[in-house]
Amino acid sequence: MNSCMQTAKPLDLPVSDGLADLLMDAARRALRYREHLATRSVCPRPGSTARLLDRLGGPLPERPADPAEVIGALDSYGSPATMGSAGGRFFGYVIGGSLPSTVAASWLATAWDQNTGLMSAAPATTLIEQIALDWVLEVLDLPRGSAGAFVTGCQMANFTGLAAARHALLARQGWDVEADGLIGAPPLPVIVGEEAHSTIFKALALLGLGRDRVLRVPADGQGRLRPERLPDIAGPAIVCLQAGNVNTGAFDPAGPVIEWARERGAWVHVDGAFGLWARVAPARRSLAAGFEDADSWATDAHKWLNVPYDCGIGLVRDPAALRGAMGTGAAYLQESPVREPMQYTPELSRRARGVEVWAALRTLGRQGVADLVERCCVHASRFAAGLRESGHEVLNEVSLNQVLVAFGDDERTRRVIEALQRDGTCWCSGTIWRGRAAMRISVSSHATSGADVEASLAAMRRLANAAA
Ligand SMILES: *Cc1c(COP(=O)(O)O)cnc(C)c1O
Repeated sequence: MNSCMQTAKPLDLPVSDGLADLLMDAARRALRYREHLATRSVCPRPGSTARLLDRLGGPLPERPADPAEVIGALDSYGSPATMGSAGGRFFGYVIGGSLPSTVAASWLATAWDQNTGLMSAAPATTLIEQIALDWVLEVLDLPRGSAGAFVTGCQMANFTGLAAARHALLARQGWDVEADGLIGAPPLPVIVGEEAHSTIFKALALLGLGRDRVLRVPADGQGRLRPERLPDIAGPAIVCLQAGNVNTGAFDPAGPVIEWARERGAWVHVDGAFGLWARVAPARRSLAAGFEDADSWATDAHKWLNVPYDCGIGLVRDPAALRGAMGTGAAYLQESPVREPMQYTPELSRRARGVEVWAALRTLGRQGVADLVERCCVHASRFAAGLRESGHEVLNEVSLNQVLVAFGDDERTRRVIEALQRDGTCWCSGTIWRGRAAMRISVSSHATSGADVEASLAAMRRLANAAA
């Protein structure tokens, strides 16, 4: 018995656990929060983070508390310190909002509390996830019958695809990497574009393939890998392509790279966290053409599909390669003839994150996803045009949802970004693009309206003038 139990007096807990009142109260608070997003400052209220630490922190409580008070404290001190990223005027990083149906689906799935690693423990969510994976392949027009895994985000989706690649390429050479590890294994070159996302390098590090062992192919002015600069290698290798550069939104040229890879028996992995969704919108589809011929794909649902965090998806053309990399078993884990999620994912126990994806695709349909993607791209074009009209320099070709803008020299650009982040009308993050400081505008939310774009443009112009 621990000391806390020895010293505690009998607890005076409510007879009923008050679930109904608690959930209704949480729903009311959540609703008020979401409605307030339209008018509140996008950045947290000044002083709110210090107050949060003061009121929610301190030593671990010894005694239980009333759950209603706990939820009340979370709302009172948590909500004001949140970033308004679920609203329509948040353009930082690449962060989508969350469709109403996906928030509600997430609540229901949380109430179900299913451990979606195993069919025997979670039949409903295992089956819903399989339907959602099939729909994702359809909506993205990727090879039907590919295997998939719901993971936390594109970081782990990249890990998942590259683990399948490592398995398949070494198995082809008679090496069982899951059993024997990489020490003494045949060499496995990895080729990436100069502008590959940081999560590719972390995934390679986690897989023992090394972040610095890679061959980096130079990129063009938009960050696209230059296929004529691919190295002269023979034998199995992994090539990482990018669909949607995090700064410019540009796509690596899939056609020539995949043709080059096929001639050499290389595996092509695509990091398409948000860019792969361009395949759904008819006017943008050509940007992401050819990526369907790859071997594995990593994408996010919590970005452009607008489901709540966290939700990424790893997809692999050859199900045996993914199963080979992720397969697991133990005497106590009961298997069934249907797909067992744990055989395809890095995790064993898992929340049912595919439920929100199902809800998003069921409410939007193919048409709704296409409209969402297209609308964001049109908003991005409007940002670019509006900023150019005011004499500011747009540094990228705006063909998707990303805009890079400089407000004169680096010093002034940084001042504008800082001022904008404090102002509260909207929120954008910064970057260095080809040696220059730039502000990134990423339009990824279903909630962004034309009025949000105009209000944000006005704030950018006003703060840029003030920083002159
Ligand atoms: C966001 C992003 C990632 C990482 O995704 P997470 O969901 O944050 O893990 C990887 N690649 C690209 C191109 C991205 O935009």
